[in-house]
Amino acid sequence: MSTSPQAADRLAQGDLDQGTPDQDTTTPEGRRAKRVLLAKPRGYCAGVDRAVITVEKALETYGPPVYVRKEIVHNKHVVETLQERGVIFVEETDEVPEGALVVFSAHGVAPAVHEEAKARNLRTIDATCPLVTKVHKEVNRFARDDYDILLIGHEGHEEVEGTAGEAPDRVQLVDKPEDVDKVNVRDPNKVVWLSQTTLSVDETMERVDQIKGRFPDLQAPPSDDICYATSNRQIAVKAMAAECDLVLVVGSQNSSNSKRLVEVALQAGARASHLIDYADQIEESWLEGVTTVGVTSGASVPDVLVMQVLDHLSQRGWDGEVEEVTTANEKIQFSLPKELRKDLKENPDAPKSVR
Ligand code: SF4
Repeated sequence: MSTSPQAADRLAQGDLDQGTPDQDTTTPEGRRAKRVLLAKPRGYCAGVDRAVITVEKALETYGPPVYVRKEIVHNKHVVETLQERGVIFVEETDEVPEGALVVFSAHGVAPAVHEEAKARNLRTIDATCPLVTKVHKEVNRFARDDYDILLIGHEGHEEVEGTAGEAPDRVQLVDKPEDVDKVNVRDPNKVVWLSQTTLSVDETMERVDQIKGRFPDLQAPPSDDICYATSNRQIAVKAMAAECDLVLVVGSQNSSNSKRLVEVALQAGARASHLIDYADQIEESWLEGVTTVGVTSGASVPDVLVMQVLDHLSQRGWDGEVEEVTTANEKIQFSLPKELRKDLKENPDAPKSVR
């Protein structure tokens, strides 16, 4: 799939650097004009960019097949595109042939997974996002200091499994409000909360307040665990949601941060919001009676998919200039995993990225 120049041309050129969209406009006939508001930042974060490029460089440097444990990032389009290029996605390392190359996904893995890979003589490249690694290190530090660690996150999510796996006998997961009552700690003065990186900022603070009701001396993480990309995308969607009859979030069903964007849009005043992988999933009924459509995307979504949504809307009458609602300009980049960097010195040509 290619980026649509038509959609890109419809973006307002750098003149909307404010946190709130322009006021509503009307047609000469006095009707409200159809508008599209486009959140910025949206889409790829630095951790996803790094993980996808890691797999692409691994393919180019070592040749297919490259095995990847779990989805490299939670996006259908990215996974399918990499599969076409020779990536084999597996659930566990025991599906990888002895001695083969396996990449660990951006969500991180528990130490036990590294040990399993070593026992099977696998060559590994760890594409864990450095901001997830930061939380792993916090778990290790607080476990060493003999704290009980309450990890706020979604049960069954790969990131949570990897993070909790750093100190399984010290970490308890808090997902739903009722989990707070089930927590058992050894010393109420030595309890710390940490979190998954892709949660709703507001909901997480509600959960923290609830935990504090039980453990008033609860310690906080040394710095935010919810990453810059997750919170920036939530701030951007909040800035435009109240103006929108409909907010379309491009992202996959298993993408935590994308799902949170739908929730945040609704809480911030959007009349309706839906999560879609592709433009063709937009149901015609969603557009009935709609004037202002907001568009954003999760941190694992290539922008080509957003451009296709803009094209889809354009064909249905939303064909004016797209107003970009900018609340932050992100410049963060992470260097590639060290296992790959040394081999790349011999083969420095950049591959074509899934964008
Ligand atoms: S969403 Fe945040 S933690 Fe996850 S990969 Fe992106 S930057 Fe890293």
